[in-house]
Amino acid sequence: MAYDKVFKERPFKWGDVSNFMHYMADEKLVSRLHETIKFKQTAITDEEKVEYFKKRLLEEYNNNKNVKMAVDVCVHCGQCMSACPTYITTGDPYNSPVGRAELIRAVIKADKVSGKLFGKAVGAVKKIDMNYIRKVYTYYWLCLICRRCGYACPFGVEQTDVTRLLGRYFMK
Ligand code: SF4
Ligand code: SF4
Repeated sequence: MAYDKVFKERPFKWGDVSNFMHYMADEKLVSRLHETIKFKQTAITDEEKVEYFKKRLLEEYNNNKNVKMAVDVCVHCGQCMSACPTYITTGDPYNSPVGRAELIRAVIKADKVSGKLFGKAVGAVKKIDMNYIRKVYTYYWLCLICRRCGYACPFGVEQTDVTRLLGRYFMK
């Protein structure tokens, strides 16, 4: 029963604890949790983890416009690099907005026909394995979610949504 309906039917009275009940989680949330647990129980080999990573990234790319923008809109002008604190302090191109995006772009490209045919020549990653996935996580984990890239980019491309996504929905 919805929580607000319960309160309408059984209004709270000071000193009366008969209205107290456990919070019932939304059914959708429960089934999502079950799916996650099932995944954790079944995706135990590295191959399964790699497949799951690719599947989830492609799903997000196809359904989340911010992820799609981070991958497709960037023209590699480099304007965002001098705004990114992690690039300024480390000088590592992968530790920049465009470098991070490049890591997931290479996975998306590997799934396209051009990537399957021409591989690295069109920017697709040659092999997606656990080392590659760890690299993606490492560089997105280093992102400070400061959003400076979004202000510096002439197209408003920013990495924070991808960073949050990789931290929240994907396995670590
Ligand atoms: S949000 Fe991340 S990628 Fe963007 S400028 Fe900040 S640290 Fe760099
Ligand atoms: S400023 Fe925008 S378009 Fe230019 S490299 Fe950075 S993300 Fe790509």
